[in-house]
Amino acid sequence: MLSKLHYYYVSTVALAPFNSCNFIEQNAIQQLNNVIITPTLKCKQTEMEKNNIRNLSLAEIENYFQTKQQPKYRAKQVYEWLWQKQGLSFDTMTNLSKELRMQLTTDFTLPALTLDATQYSADGTVKTRFKTFDNYSIESVLIPTDERKTVCVSSQVGCSLTCKFCATGKMERKRNLTFDEIYDQVVLVNQQSQKVYDKKLTNIVFMGMGEPLLNYSNVLKSIERINAEDGLFMSPRRVTVSTAGVAKAIRKLGDDKVKFKLALSLHAANDVKRNEIMPINESNNIKALIEALNYFYKCTGNEITFEYILFKNFNDSIKDADELIKVYRQVPADLINIIEYNPIDDFGMIKPEEDVTMAFMNYLEKHKVNARLRRSRGKDIDAACGQLANKG
Ligand code: SF4
Repeated sequence: MLSKLHYYYVSTVALAPFNSCNFIEQNAIQQLNNVIITPTLKCKQTEMEKNNIRNLSLAEIENYFQTKQQPKYRAKQVYEWLWQKQGLSFDTMTNLSKELRMQLTTDFTLPALTLDATQYSADGTVKTRFKTFDNYSIESVLIPTDERKTVCVSSQVGCSLTCKFCATGKMERKRNLTFDEIYDQVVLVNQQSQKVYDKKLTNIVFMGMGEPLLNYSNVLKSIERINAEDGLFMSPRRVTVSTAGVAKAIRKLGDDKVKFKLALSLHAANDVKRNEIMPINESNNIKALIEALNYFYKCTGNEITFEYILFKNFNDSIKDADELIKVYRQVPADLINIIEYNPIDDFGMIKPEEDVTMAFMNYLEKHKVNARLRRSRGKDIDAACGQLANKG
């Protein structure tokens, strides 16, 4: 949704069933209607999954060391490196002997992200491009304010949902990110935040490249590691997952009683307009999303936010504001973020004039809607809402 990196955040994609060992992406919308949780890189990664040490629990690592006639505490040391001490290669695990590190290198892989390029915006935003073990590029964005240091993370390589206003939507979806690749983004941007701003991350938003709810299991597992006492130990209330609107997955979040916040990228408050800019709406219309959000809230009580990018002469009139209020009143939403648009190539829409934007905001305020205007961040480095496309 990010690439939506909405105003300051991002978002999503669809998964494809696997055909033999190829990732044949089938109709994304059909996939949405079927199911959401598909293993990542199934065939190609079978070996990788078997050997990736981060797929092992602490107990499994203990078992491994037992077979090597090593004391149990070795497992705890390794586990701490993996999840708490940013040990992104076996070489960094300096409290293990050289021989033991070599043994681990022989027996396991540790396919961590590596830093590829960093760009600094004049407004303080920092965009980082990472490389995956199989040489794909993904992007994360650090958005600093006085009160917060927020990282916008990607959940997939590319995106298949083709939202018309989004640069990531122009990219083919390559694959889901694994839970540890999502986790690495948070770890590495946290280091960056401490280096550049002398402050740790305070918030995490899943609004970068890809649709998080179409990579459901990896996204939830990454959040479990982020929240865990033996992980980053950050509160789930600091995490927001943003979706383009996968009704079935929103309901599943409710069933799973998740503790993080949810944001819906609405961007148009009637189906005709939403179909035009977000094809996913054809199979997940606004009524279905309203019902799913109410179910989510009933099950979890967690905060819900609407994201609404203003497009000139498309969704910025007082009639549009009225329709938006109508949708807002049907969901126990805390907030509507009204987002300033950053044009991308080939879309043709731009943001409204300032007086139109303010008239829209004033109308919402007059009707007691809790709405905030989000100015774009990182425009000069293509890190703003809708701009993530590995160009930097
Ligand atoms: S195409 Fe849509 S769902 Fe995919 S990243 Fe862009 S805004 Fe998010």
